[in-house]
Amino acid sequence: MGPTMAAPKNLKIALAGNPNSGKTSIFNSMTGARQQVGNWPGVTVEKKLGFFTHKGYEIEVVDLPGTYSLTAYSVEERVARTYLVDEKPDVVIHVVDAGNVARNLYLTVQLLELGVDLIVDMNMWDEFTTCGSELDCDRLATLFGAPVVPTVGHRGIGIDDLLDAVVKLVEERAEQHRHVPITYGPHVDDVLSELTELLEESPELIGNYPARWIAIKLLEGDIEIRKLLSKDDDNASRILDTAERATRHIGIATKSDPEKVISEGRYGYIEGALKEVLTEEPTDRMELSRRLDSVFTHRYLGYPIFLAFVWILFQLTFRVGAIPMGWIDAFVGWLGGTLAATLPESQISSLVVDGVIGGVGSVIIFLPNIMILFLGIAFLEDSGYMSRAAFLMDRVMHALGLHGKSFIPLLMGFGCSVPAIMATRTLESRRDRTLTTLIVPLMSCSARLPVYLLIGGAFFAERAGTAVFIIYLLGIVAAILIGRLFASTLFRSAPAPFVMELPPYRRPTAKGLLIHTWERSRIYLQKMGGVILAASVVLWFLGAYPQNAGLTESLEQEIAEQQAIGSVAALEKVRELEADAAAIQIESSYIGRAGQFIEPVIEPLGFRWEMGVSLITGFVAKEVVVSTLGVLYHTGAEEGVSGRTLVEALRDPANEITPLAAFAFMVFVLLYTPCIVTIVAIRREAGTGWMWFSIAYQLALAWLVSFGIYQVGTLVGLG
Ligand code: GDP
Ligand code: MG
Repeated sequence: MGPTMAAPKNLKIALAGNPNSGKTSIFNSMTGARQQVGNWPGVTVEKKLGFFTHKGYEIEVVDLPGTYSLTAYSVEERVARTYLVDEKPDVVIHVVDAGNVARNLYLTVQLLELGVDLIVDMNMWDEFTTCGSELDCDRLATLFGAPVVPTVGHRGIGIDDLLDAVVKLVEERAEQHRHVPITYGPHVDDVLSELTELLEESPELIGNYPARWIAIKLLEGDIEIRKLLSKDDDNASRILDTAERATRHIGIATKSDPEKVISEGRYGYIEGALKEVLTEEPTDRMELSRRLDSVFTHRYLGYPIFLAFVWILFQLTFRVGAIPMGWIDAFVGWLGGTLAATLPESQISSLVVDGVIGGVGSVIIFLPNIMILFLGIAFLEDSGYMSRAAFLMDRVMHALGLHGKSFIPLLMGFGCSVPAIMATRTLESRRDRTLTTLIVPLMSCSARLPVYLLIGGAFFAERAGTAVFIIYLLGIVAAILIGRLFASTLFRSAPAPFVMELPPYRRPTAKGLLIHTWERSRIYLQKMGGVILAASVVLWFLGAYPQNAGLTESLEQEIAEQQAIGSVAALEKVRELEADAAAIQIESSYIGRAGQFIEPVIEPLGFRWEMGVSLITGFVAKEVVVSTLGVLYHTGAEEGVSGRTLVEALRDPANEITPLAAFAFMVFVLLYTPCIVTIVAIRREAGTGWMWFSIAYQLALAWLVSFGIYQVGTLVGLG
């Protein structure tokens, strides 16, 4: 039972608990920055390891996957129990959400069955105490034979007490510590004893597992344990026979199956214990949650409410965001104009003004909008509403033959496809993982928002918020339909069942909201200084070279002549000629040639070649679509302070972009192949074959849908 005298004193502890009980918060409070993240061997479930010292012990702690139970039904549960049995940690800390103590203790009981050295961590103690309930931790510790320590995980309160309890336990000074047997009622208890005895006679069969635990699992019909015993061995087959007989016996005696009888036994045990230690049910919060849920997750009302929230969010993104956006826009324009005026006319000044400021500047003005969107999403998440949205969509998913849990990665896809694709790891079967990975990119990620903001703002004015709302909706519909199509053609098997977790509603804290918003916005800013800056510079070169002397010479002459005249009309003419020169330059540049090369492909969609080029460069990152348009419609330089913005350039009738084509363009950006980083993520999670499949199907889908919208729209006279 753990090391005693000998130095160095090493300890291995494990954190077990339900999802959302605060395990990771506790883990982080214990370890600070000293952690390793990897995968559990053989499965794609995250493995977090941390190291720290406490009272002279070198402690290794592992954050086990969140589980409600220790059956063999899901990967997480198998990972958790295999670790507990094979690695034999010195102490297991069960992180319990004190506000949900009854349900959480179900796992505690199973940990007791497994015979581990247990400490119960009553986490979320702050929330628990504010709702007026009382829990006698000492009494509970005595009943369970395991120390009980209250903590507030995300604030690091009580962590030292928890670790002191660990040390006390291994030094065998914890007064409450003992192994309590759980009882399940007379029918089960009798056969359990019989089976346990049989198993104890054949220790070679059961390895590290406690005999009584194996007996329980046999009665529950656990497949893994059955496998363990299906050997060509007399004792093993005798045990299996006995288990079978016992199962039938319990079935007849209770008119129910043993698995159910055993779980009822556990709940009964918990009920009994809680009667003694819990003085008041934590009803207030749950009651409020229940009342809110009756509206938010209402069978019919829930959906329009969900849509209304999203719609409001986009209205805010546009209308409130427009104010700071105007300031940044003015600043970028002023900077470009000032630099153009002060720097001597040269390639370098053009690179700075047209390339860097034109490219990065056209993207950075959307930062306020992005921050508002992130703030809104953080609010929906932190308040607990997002889980309700997932719950609602779960019904839709099931009806369509998709795994309900798939909606969580899909929801994350609104932020960024890359972590969303990584989140498919929480799905059990390869089928569900691959299927979800393929449709995640259809959820409109935040990098696409600047494109919508630009195009929507340019062509749909007052109705821009609604246009973007429709685009997002279209992404959801496409994901559902495509998912359905793939589910019934490429992946024909049923999804596994699961329970959707609904945490109570919480009032989001300002600090939490700001941290979440900032974390995500920071990534946007980093992209700005990195990939978008680089892409803008490369684009500028491709647009500025080869330098076209032949054509500009005659123009230059004309410009000089007009300038010599010097009248208002002549200066107007100069500006026109300069614009012509720039247009000719860009058309005959490398990028212009590439654009003309792909023009036939995009022409049926109503796109101009500049738009086609921006779609190609958009492979790097979706924001680059905007910076490309910024560079191609060279909005930085010659007009200077009074120059037109990118929006004005796009609207210019000379460019012949119709609102219909603009909408088709937004749809194309929504549906076509995501950025390179996402493609790499798809390859890592689903393999090279599926990566190519994903690229091909999204390109085809984007083209066909945009084609349909533009052509049909033109036919019915929307063009
Ligand atoms: P895990 O799924 O078990 O790893 O849970 P997390 O550590 O991710 O925590 C889930 C949520 O609960 C996070 O938003 C935490 O900030 C929050 N949380 C964790 N511990 C506490 C606590 O003691 N009190 C309160 N009020 N919130 C907590
Ligand atoms: Mg966690």
